[in-house]
Amino acid sequence: MGNLKISLIPYTYQLKHSFNLAIYSRTTTPAVLLKIQTPDITAWGEASLPPYLGETQESVMSFINRFNLERFSESDSLETILHEVDNFEPNNTAAKAAIDIALHNLKAQLGGISLQQQFGIHTEFTLPTSYTIGIDSPENVASRATEAKDFNVLKIKLGGANDREMIAAVRSVTDKPIYVDVNQGWKTLDQAEKESDWLAKMGVVLIEQPFPKDWLEETARLREKSPLPLFADESCQRLADVEKMAQAFQGINIKLMKCTGMAEAAKMISLARKLNLKIMMGSMTESSVATLAANTFAPLVDFIDLDGPWLIANNPFETPKLQGGVLMESSPKLQPEVNL
Ligand code: MG
Repeated sequence: MGNLKISLIPYTYQLKHSFNLAIYSRTTTPAVLLKIQTPDITAWGEASLPPYLGETQESVMSFINRFNLERFSESDSLETILHEVDNFEPNNTAAKAAIDIALHNLKAQLGGISLQQQFGIHTEFTLPTSYTIGIDSPENVASRATEAKDFNVLKIKLGGANDREMIAAVRSVTDKPIYVDVNQGWKTLDQAEKESDWLAKMGVVLIEQPFPKDWLEETARLREKSPLPLFADESCQRLADVEKMAQAFQGINIKLMKCTGMAEAAKMISLARKLNLKIMMGSMTESSVATLAANTFAPLVDFIDLDGPWLIANNPFETPKLQGGVLMESSPKLQPEVNL
């Protein structure tokens, strides 16, 4: 059995719409695609690198090269390789996720099974994804909500100056359920209580990351008052964070780029279930590779926010088919005209 042959391809996603959050705005997302080849199989992994998380294309490629993934062969145990990856150096979670996703895709193809079957999941396509709309003028937010015909749930970014105007604008064009993501944007308990009361009346279903990530006490106090469940995103990165989330939130948002990939995501899901936490599977701006890897867990979670392929103008992979807002694919395929 030969050693793994790998290629690292830096790639920049052009966003269809400028992505505006409470803290900053951008029009591109850097990424690194990891290709593993055997004589018969090509398996893909991906690191998506929103700049505020601190990893870069250079740091990801350097990490994977230093780790020397090519010293392994396709018959080596996935658990062993992933354990070595995580212990090789701290942090570098997106680089680790790229390796994890590529190896899971490789092992699934070698075994002739789907990613779902690899995790013992036998129902494949279940939950509809939300479609994310960033902070913008009420007019633009309403027109984005109108354009999102293929999606049954919307996720609106809040924490800017015109939160209520944006939600009212969305409500003027659709009655679809809304998730809101404050991205740490609320500054006082009083403000957060008032906003969550108002949002509950507007058909909002949940609130993600209302306060700065370290404000667990304030979040716990808001949880007592808020009619809407609170979900941790920035506060909850990896498995080691899950237990303390139960003190402050009703749910967590698991993302492969934060938690080093599918193996750890599966562990976070089981621990969250034991703690009675609700689970959202989320994503950064990602191509179909990481999106479909995350969607593997759809049957095990409560909410899905996996809309990356619809936010990117130059996804090198085919956009997954959607049915009633549900992603209907399990493995990524390169677009026929793309040569990577
Ligand atoms: Mg979030």
